[in-house]
Amino acid sequence: MSWIFFSDFDGTITQQDVIGTIMENFAPLEWKDIYTGLMEGKIDIDVGIRMMFNLIPAEKLESIKEFVLDGIKIREGFGELLDYLREKDIPFVILSGGLDFYIYLLMEPYLDKIHRIHSNRLIVREGKLDVRFYYRCGVLCKRNCGICKPYVIENYYKNHTLRMYAGDGITDLDASQFNDIIFSTGGLEYYLKKLNLRGKRVIKFETFFDVIKSIEEYGEGISS
Ligand SMILES: [Mg+2]
Ligand SMILES: [Zn+2]
Repeated sequence: MSWIFFSDFDGTITQQDVIGTIMENFAPLEWKDIYTGLMEGKIDIDVGIRMMFNLIPAEKLESIKEFVLDGIKIREGFGELLDYLREKDIPFVILSGGLDFYIYLLMEPYLDKIHRIHSNRLIVREGKLDVRFYYRCGVLCKRNCGICKPYVIENYYKNHTLRMYAGDGITDLDASQFNDIIFSTGGLEYYLKKLNLRGKRVIKFETFFDVIKSIEEYGEGISS
């Protein structure tokens, strides 16, 4: 059995949505309409994220980094989950539509326990913040995800026999369909209910201690 654990970042590993919190504090008000359009699926994710970051002048980057380090909280039990997975030889992979600069900043203490981080990249262009995408949608997806989670899973992690995924929102919906066990928090559960998820397990969680407990119980079910 080769198991793997994927996790979304914003609102899943962190308690709050990092992009939303950055915009709230650093972008002019126009960001709100873009964000709403994005969350409702009316604006493509790649277009929307660039539009929002383009609203912020590059000089603000250092203050954004300080703000992220001070203000963003990691969900309880995260370090323990990483220790647990490592002990079981289950790789932990971050699949995030967020940006590398704040993910690496916040994950610094944990990097040696994270197998890989797939995300978008922040760049500076013409004095403004901007975003580059490295994992575009493959044939399976036509959504212009920016980072296409189904594409990454199918391309890099096809050989894992049991895939687990933790997420919190609508952008995790497509990825959920490529996993066997889905850990849901926040609004994801609501969206999952509309899907046909035959053969998959959906488990609600609040802290990563809940996740550890569920994997433990699931593992026992298999070995007995
Ligand atoms: Mg999220
Ligand atoms: Zn896609």
